[in-house]
Amino acid sequence: MYAFPSRAWEREKWPDMGGSEQNKITNDTDVSLDASVTVLAGVGPKRAEQLAGLGIVTVEDLLLHLPRGYEDRRNFATMGTVEVGAEVCIRGEVVSSRNQRMRGRQNMAVLKVRDETGEMTVTFFGRGFMAKTVFAPGKTGVFFGKVEKYQGMALKNPEYEMLAGDAEDALHVGRIVPIYGLTEGVSQRFLRKLIMDALDRVTGVVGEVVPESLRTRVGWSNRDGAMRMVHYPETLEEAQGARAQFAYEELLLLQLGILIQRQVEASRGAGIVHMVNGPLLVGLHGQLPFSLTEGQERVISTVLADMASAGSMIRLVQGDVGCGKTVVALHAIAAALDGGYQVAMMVPTEILAEQHGVNLAGYLAPLGVEVAVLTSRRGDAKGVRTGLASGTVRVVVGTQALIQAGTVFGNLGLVVVDEQHRFGVEQRAKLVSKGHYPDVLQMTATPIPRTLAITVYGGMDVSVVRGMPPGRLPVKTRQIPEGKLDDLYVYLREQVDAGQQVYMVCPVIEMNEESVLRSVEEHFEELSTGALHGVSTALLHGRMEPEDKAAVMSAFKAGDVAVLFSTTVIEVGVDVPAATIMVIENADQFGLTQLHQLRGRVGRGGEQAYCFLLGQARTDEGQARLDTLCTHTDGFRIAEEDLLQRGPGEFYGAKQAGLSDLRVADLIRDAAVLEEARRDAGLILSADPGLKAKHHRGLRGRMVGMGRVRH
Ligand code: ADP
Ligand code: MG
Repeated sequence: MYAFPSRAWEREKWPDMGGSEQNKITNDTDVSLDASVTVLAGVGPKRAEQLAGLGIVTVEDLLLHLPRGYEDRRNFATMGTVEVGAEVCIRGEVVSSRNQRMRGRQNMAVLKVRDETGEMTVTFFGRGFMAKTVFAPGKTGVFFGKVEKYQGMALKNPEYEMLAGDAEDALHVGRIVPIYGLTEGVSQRFLRKLIMDALDRVTGVVGEVVPESLRTRVGWSNRDGAMRMVHYPETLEEAQGARAQFAYEELLLLQLGILIQRQVEASRGAGIVHMVNGPLLVGLHGQLPFSLTEGQERVISTVLADMASAGSMIRLVQGDVGCGKTVVALHAIAAALDGGYQVAMMVPTEILAEQHGVNLAGYLAPLGVEVAVLTSRRGDAKGVRTGLASGTVRVVVGTQALIQAGTVFGNLGLVVVDEQHRFGVEQRAKLVSKGHYPDVLQMTATPIPRTLAITVYGGMDVSVVRGMPPGRLPVKTRQIPEGKLDDLYVYLREQVDAGQQVYMVCPVIEMNEESVLRSVEEHFEELSTGALHGVSTALLHGRMEPEDKAAVMSAFKAGDVAVLFSTTVIEVGVDVPAATIMVIENADQFGLTQLHQLRGRVGRGGEQAYCFLLGQARTDEGQARLDTLCTHTDGFRIAEEDLLQRGPGEFYGAKQAGLSDLRVADLIRDAAVLEEARRDAGLILSADPGLKAKHHRGLRGRMVGMGRVRH
C-alpha cells in the first residue's frame, strides 16, 4: 500500500503552517489589511510589480486573490490500478527522464514515474529541455490529469508540481490545494506560501465587514475563518461556502456604493416640478396617429409622475428595438415645454439627430413649437447656439455638439439621452450640468440582462417598455452561404421590383475606418453596376457631409432609393418603417447585440421582414452568434445569450459601473447572490442611511475607502 503523507496540516495546527519559517525572518507583528504586500517576507520591489499585475497591491488584495480552483491532493491514485479516461492525481518519484526529439523542431520530456504500486509515463510537450533539470530522476512530483494509453498508462501535459522534499511540501500536497490565477514570474508555490504567510500575520486583525445579523442569517463564519477556508479548505464544500461569502460581501459593498451615490444625487437639490396636464401634452396626445401600446402608456405615466414630483428624475427607459420609445420621450418633452422649460435630446449620430429632428417636428410643429438640430458640422450651429442661450430655441436634438463649452442654455429643464448605452457617464453628466437640476430621461434599446441592469443601472430608476406596437411580425432571419449569393441577389431584385426596400450593411473586417469605407464603396460600385444594375441604390457612411447624409436618408425614407448601402451608421435608432430587408455582410464580425440592433431597422411596419446574414463564420463563437440570431428575436433573450457568450466585461456600461473591478463575484454564477445583496443594501441604508451604527462600522470603513462616504 502506498503511504500517504501524514496530515500535518490539521486545522488546529494552522498558525504554525507555512508562515512559521517566514516569521523567523520577519518580525512576528501583525500587519494590517491595507498594508502594502511589501511588508511580507520575500516581496521586494520586483515581486511587488509582478503582483500588481494580478491587481494585488495590499495584503487584503492578496488575500482576496481567491483560488480559481482546487486540486484534491489528499488521496493519490495508485499507479498500478489507474484506468484509461479517469482524472487522477498521482504522486511519485521520477525514475527516468529524457528529451525526446520529434518531427520538425519539436521535442517533449518523457518521464517514467513510480509509486509503490506501479509505474506510469508522463509526457510534457515542448519541455524536453526540462528533462534533466526540473524533471530529473530522483525528484518527486505530483501530477494531475486524465489517464491515456501511451507506453503503458500515461498522463500527457498534466498539471504538475515538483516537490522540494522539505517541510513546505505540506502546503502543496496531502491536502486540498488552491490553484491560483498566475502571471509572469509568479508561481503557484510562491503564491501559496505568500498567502499562507499573510493569513498567519493578519490573524486577529481581519475585522468584519458584513454585519453580524446578515452573517448569522446565512450561517457564515467570521471573515478571518472564511479567508482561511477559501484558501486552504478541508473540503470542497467548505471552499464553496467561503467563496460565496466573499462574493456576497463584494456585491453588498458594490450595491451600497451605488445606493449611497444615488442618495447623494437625490439630495443634491430640489428638482423641477413640471406641469403634466398642459396644453402641449394634451395636444400631442390628441394628434397621435396610433393608439399607444399598454407598455408605452404605463411608462409614460411613470415618467410624468417623476416629472411632476419635486425630486429630480433619473430614469432609464429600456425597451427592445422598435417598441416605440421615441413617443415616450415626446410626452416628457411636451410636459417640459408646457412649463416653459427648454429640452435637449442627445443622440449618438448625426443621422439620428436629423431623423429625430424631423420626427419630433412632425408632432411639435403643428402645436407651434419648432425643433432645432445641432451638430458641429451643420452650417447653422452658431444660430442654434444663440437661440439656445437666449431661450428662443425651445427644443434641440443634437449630437455631442450639445455638450461643448459653447452650448449654453437659458432654461434647460429636461435632458433626454437616446441610445444611452453609446454615451459615457461623463458625457451625460456634462449635458445635465447645462441646466439647473433638469430631469433626466435616458433611453436604450440595448436590453441588458437583469443581473447586469441591477448594477450597471443601479443608480437610476428603470422602466421597461413591454410589448410591441400591434401587427409586428418577427423578422425572419437566415444565414446565406457563399454559394447562394447569386440567388439572393435575384431575390432582392424581385423584392425591389415588388416595391420593397433593402439595407445592405457592410463589413467591419478591420476596425479601420478607411478600409471599412473602401469596402462599402467597392461593394456599392460592384453591385450597382453588376447584380443590382438598374436598381436605384445609394451609399451612406459617417464621413459624408451632413447635408448629403440627410439627403440620402430622406430619399430612402421617401422610397426613392430601393437599396441603401451603408456602414453601421444606421445601427441605432434609424426608423424607416417601409424597409423590410436587412442584408448584413460578414455578419460574424459583429457582436450579438449589434446584430440585433441592425436587424431592428426592419420589421417596423406591418409587413413580413427578412434579415440575411452573409459570409462564412470564421470562428465557432461567430457561428454560435449567427445561430442565436436565427433562432431568437427577443432582445432580452439575445442579451442573455450575449452575456453567456462574452461575459459581462464586454457590455456597454459594465466598466463604468465598476464591474470590471469585481475580483470574486461572477455576475452569471452569482446572479442570485447579487439580488440578495441588492435587497440587503437597501434594507441597511433605510435603517441607517449614514451607516453610523456600531455594527455597520465595517461597511462604513469600506464606503469611506471607496470614496462614497466621508469620514
Ligand atoms: P425605438 O423604441 O426603437 O426607438 P421608435 O420610437 O423609433 O422605436 O418607434 C418605432 C416605430 O414604431 C416608429 O415608426 C413609430 O412611429 C412606431 N410606433 C411607435 N409606437 C407605436 C404604436 N403605439 N402603434 C403603432 N406604431 C407605433
Ligand atoms: Mg429609438
